[in-house]
Amino acid sequence: MSSPKYRFETLALHAGQPVDATLSRGVPVYRTTSYLFKSTEHAANLFALKELGNIYTRLMNPTTDTLEQRVTQLEGGAASVAVASGTAAIFNTIITLAEAGDNIVSANNLYGGTYTQFDAILPKLGINVTFVDPKDPANFEHAITEKTRALFIETIGNPVLDYTDVRAIAEVAHRNGLPLIVDATFTTPYLLKTIELGADIVINSLTKWLGGHGAGIGGIITDAGRFNWNGGRHPLFTEADKNYHGLHWAIDLPEPLAPIAFALRFRTVPLRNLGACIAPDNSWILLQGIETLPVRMARHSENALKVAEHLSKHPGVTWVRYPGLKNDPSYPKASKDLKNGFGGMVVFGVKGGYNAAVEIIDNIKLFSHLANVGDAKSLILHPASTSHSQLTEEQQLQSGLSRDLIRLSIGLEHPDDLIEALDEVLLSTGSKGNA
Ligand SMILES: *Cc1c(COP(=O)(O)O)cnc(C)c1O
Repeated sequence: MSSPKYRFETLALHAGQPVDATLSRGVPVYRTTSYLFKSTEHAANLFALKELGNIYTRLMNPTTDTLEQRVTQLEGGAASVAVASGTAAIFNTIITLAEAGDNIVSANNLYGGTYTQFDAILPKLGINVTFVDPKDPANFEHAITEKTRALFIETIGNPVLDYTDVRAIAEVAHRNGLPLIVDATFTTPYLLKTIELGADIVINSLTKWLGGHGAGIGGIITDAGRFNWNGGRHPLFTEADKNYHGLHWAIDLPEPLAPIAFALRFRTVPLRNLGACIAPDNSWILLQGIETLPVRMARHSENALKVAEHLSKHPGVTWVRYPGLKNDPSYPKASKDLKNGFGGMVVFGVKGGYNAAVEIIDNIKLFSHLANVGDAKSLILHPASTSHSQLTEEQQLQSGLSRDLIRLSIGLEHPDDLIEALDEVLLSTGSKGNA
C-alpha cells in the first residue's frame, strides 16, 4: 500500500487510478450497474464488509472510486464518498449522524440551498438546527445542548465572504465531544486543508471549482478518520443499527475499518437506501476538472484579487469585500490560513443602489448572468433581485445582504478584459450617483 508522498499538483493528476487490463492512460468510465460475484462466499463477504469490493453502482463504481480516492488524498483524509450533488452530500452527512430529536449547531451565513435545508426541511424531520454568527466561536459553545450531534460551518460564508476561523470552531467542537463538519466548496483543498485545521468531515460541491467547467453536478464527503464516535454523544454509532445487521458502528468494526466508521455508515445506510448516487459519467467529467485544479485555483485567485483591487479604487463603487484585500475585515485571519490565494469570489456595492445594480447586470458584457459559482468563465448575479428576492428588504438586510450587492465569480479570462467590462458599465451607471 505504500506509495511515495507526492505533492498536491501530482496527486491531482494521478491519485487513485489503478491501471486496468486495457492499460488505458485516461480514467475509464465504467458504465455498469452491477458486478459479478466470484462465488456465494465472495458475495457474502462483500455484504458483511469482511471484504471490500463492487456490488452495485448505487453503492460504488470503479470510476467513482478513483474520484473518491483522489479527493481523499487531496484533502489529506481517510476515506471519501461521492454523491449526486453537494446538496445531497450535506443532507446525507446530517442523517448519518443525527435523527429525530437531535440538534445541529450551524453558522448562519450559509449557501442558500443549505440554509433552506437546515431551516425548513430538517426541522420537519425532527432534526432542529440552531443558527449562530460564526464570527465569534463562543456562539457555538453557548448553543450546544446534550442533543447536539455536530457543528457545521462553511470556510468562506455568504453573502459577504467572511472567512470562518475553522481552527477555533474545531476546538469548541472537540472540547464538547462533537465532530466539526466543514463545507469547503469556496476554498477547495488547494487553498485550505481544513482537516489540518481540525475538520472531521469535509464536504465539497464538485459542481463548482473542483469540476471547474460548469459541466457536471456532484458532491463528495471526506472523513478525516480520527473522530471518536464512541464518546457518548452519538447513539447512531453506539446502539445496534437496524439498517445494517444490528452493527454497532463505533464498536464492532475491525481495525482497518474502525477509523472510517462515518464514511462507511454514510455509504451503506443513506447512500445505499435513499439512493442519491453519482453517475459514473459525472465522476469522469469531474475528474477531468480536478486534474487542473491547482493551476485554475491559483489563477482564479490572482484574477479575483486584481478585480477586487481595481473595484476598491473605483469612484462608482461604494464598498468591496474580498478576503484577500489588506483592509478587509477577514484579511488578518484569512491571510494566516490561506497560503495559496483567497479564492474566486468578489462582492461589491455600487453608487445608485438597487437600480444601478440591476442596470449593471443587464448591460455588462463578457460576464455570464446566472446563479452558479466556480466556472472557468466569469459569472455575475444580483442576489437582491434574484436568489434572495423572496425575502423582504428587512430580512435581506438582516442576512447581511444589501440591496446594492453584486456578486462576481471570477473566471480564467484575461483580468484586463474583466476589468474593462466592469469599467464600461460602472462608468455609465456610477456617474448618475444618486443612491
Ligand atoms: C453550490 C454549493 C452547494 C451545493 O452544491 P450542489 O452541487 O449545487 O448541490 C453547497 N455549498 C456551497 C458552498 C455551494 O457553493
